[in-house]
Amino acid sequence: MTLTDLKGIGPKTEKLFNKLGIFTVRDLLYYFPHTYLCYKKPLSIGNLTEGETEAVTGMLEKDAVVVNLHGLRMTSAYIRDISGKMRLTWFNAPFLRNTLKAGSAFVFFGKVGDYKGQKTLNQPKIFSVDEYAKKIDTLEPVYGQSKGLSNAVILKAIRQAMEVSKPEADFIPEVIRYNRELLSMNDAIRHVHFPENMEDYKKARERLAYNELFLFSMALVKKKQNTAEQKSDFIIKRDERIDSFIKALPFTLTEGQASAVEDIRSDLSGGFTMNRLLQGDVGSGKTIVSFIAALETAFNGHQAAIMAPTEILAAQHYEKLKKIVSDNAYDLKIALVTGSLKVSEKKAIYKEIENHEADIIIGTHALFQENVIYDDLALVVTDEQHRFGVNQRKTLGEKGKHPHTLVMSATPIPRTLAMLLYADMKVSLIKGLPSNRLPIKNAVVNESYRNKAYKFIYDEIKKGRQAYIICPMVEDNDMLDLENVTDYTAKIRKLFPAGVKIEKLHGKMKPKEKDDIMDRFLHKEIDILVSTTVVEVGVDVPNSTVMMVENAERFGLAQLHQLRGRVGRSEHQSFCIFVDSSNSDKSKERLQILANSNDGFHIAEEDLRLRGPGDIFGIRQSGALDFSIADIYQDKELLKKASEDAMYVLRSDSELKETDNQALKDRLNRYLEESYVL
Ligand code: ADP
Ligand code: MG
Repeated sequence: MTLTDLKGIGPKTEKLFNKLGIFTVRDLLYYFPHTYLCYKKPLSIGNLTEGETEAVTGMLEKDAVVVNLHGLRMTSAYIRDISGKMRLTWFNAPFLRNTLKAGSAFVFFGKVGDYKGQKTLNQPKIFSVDEYAKKIDTLEPVYGQSKGLSNAVILKAIRQAMEVSKPEADFIPEVIRYNRELLSMNDAIRHVHFPENMEDYKKARERLAYNELFLFSMALVKKKQNTAEQKSDFIIKRDERIDSFIKALPFTLTEGQASAVEDIRSDLSGGFTMNRLLQGDVGSGKTIVSFIAALETAFNGHQAAIMAPTEILAAQHYEKLKKIVSDNAYDLKIALVTGSLKVSEKKAIYKEIENHEADIIIGTHALFQENVIYDDLALVVTDEQHRFGVNQRKTLGEKGKHPHTLVMSATPIPRTLAMLLYADMKVSLIKGLPSNRLPIKNAVVNESYRNKAYKFIYDEIKKGRQAYIICPMVEDNDMLDLENVTDYTAKIRKLFPAGVKIEKLHGKMKPKEKDDIMDRFLHKEIDILVSTTVVEVGVDVPNSTVMMVENAERFGLAQLHQLRGRVGRSEHQSFCIFVDSSNSDKSKERLQILANSNDGFHIAEEDLRLRGPGDIFGIRQSGALDFSIADIYQDKELLKKASEDAMYVLRSDSELKETDNQALKDRLNRYLEESYVL
């Protein structure tokens, strides 16, 4: 059965589904909503809260009117109850005139706004009073949509898919499902799409999160089983050039950096395979530590690879290391491997790697694609390790002999989780930031502060500094009232004096364009960079001192903390301005946590405490560990269970030879193949 066998889907619509990554009827089942509309009890006008999505019952004062406004046709109407009066507007829906007649009553559902001091609903949904009464307390799924494919069409397709699909074989063993009171996969799928109430949704989400955590734990347990301390094939002797290099740095290493360097050098030369985690908050200076390890490896005649989660970050590391090598006249060759290289470039670089012309290879996970063959890979560094999927050494083991590994992470993770994750690793911790740093000054403001913020940014630019402005979206989206990089850039170009150079950056740009923009920003040819969160991890432009985040309410605190880490990277005082567009007290309180603390671990814990694990629409904390549903903070307890269960399953049957649960075997194998290597 194919998509076009479903009612309402022709070849054209099928293409639109394909764009969302949906190719089969089964894909539809696994296309989960990213949020839900919750139909709350209607309130009186006086009790509506600006910024919230709410329902109001009201009687129309007069017939709705249609006017022309900037070429658009706007329908407007007024409703009144004893607590007040409010305005309702719709664009391009003149036909509503026929429904919205004086004296009739409806329930209107939408986001409460403000128009010249009066409450408004813009584009509210309209229900008859009876119709709405039936919907109260139900949840309506909202799916990620693409142009031309509405939520209603997706919903209808999923409803049909559910009717025609055969039950799924459940890969979680029944005894576990029973013990942990988990829904079956079939129920979870049904309830995640069509929950009758909050409880349904929570149970469904729990099951889906458990899936991810269980597979993740299985992979971890397997990995641990394979990594008893091993004699190393690579003895990396201490090289004097490293000592001179450290002495000649423009700064002295912090205590944490120096002891991390010592830990690593002693591991590398010690005869056993290194397996070390380097943890340190954003800006603590992890990069230089990894460069030292890579250089020492290369001086010993072996190859080292450094893997970064984004092309931007990989390119940045590459440029930095290349400069180090040329400044010091080291006889080493640095190579950059990313997914977006041209075929001919790739070929040339792969050849350099295979014949060992390249000594240190930097890249994204493209570094470990099948046709990259290393001559003598002795060290693998993974930067921002939590950005990658679970790690397993299988693929890599085949590439090199057993290279030393160093993983670096700024994500503060709860201790229990750290013990699970890193049980087989030694940890070096960089506490604190370099001593030349001043604490970042933070402000949580609302939109009315914008002009002041721009003036402030302009003053910083006049002092020779640079600024980032972060927007959540790339371009305008009718569904979401959020700032976008494209329009924002155009807008502020008009506001700032002509000499101020403003450019945009986002993930949809071509890699070459991105590199070019980052390069120009680094070399101060751009004053203000308007960007999506593509700069969230790792990017290092120490001269920038202002980070302004639009729609800050949309981001997780851990993510905002990472973003903030892009400033405060030099001796200059830095500033962070979080613009909260929500007008909600709760959001203000949440963002205030950031303003009051610079400690990533504290921030993550406070955020969790404030939102509570039950906050289902909560923003995901971070992209940590690449889960799509589970969240390492919110689902701490579930992870603990999943990892106990994984150990239980694998303890007596590590290769799953004795189980007849074929679904589990298939799923785990697929998982191990798809997750990135380390
Ligand atoms: P992160 O730990 O977030 O990866 P980076 O390695 O990018 O941090 O370092 C942040 C900035 O601090 C860089 O510009 C780097 O050159 C600088 N830096 C690193 N170590 C020191 C130090 N000991 N003293 C002063 N600046 C340092
Ligand atoms: Mg970094």
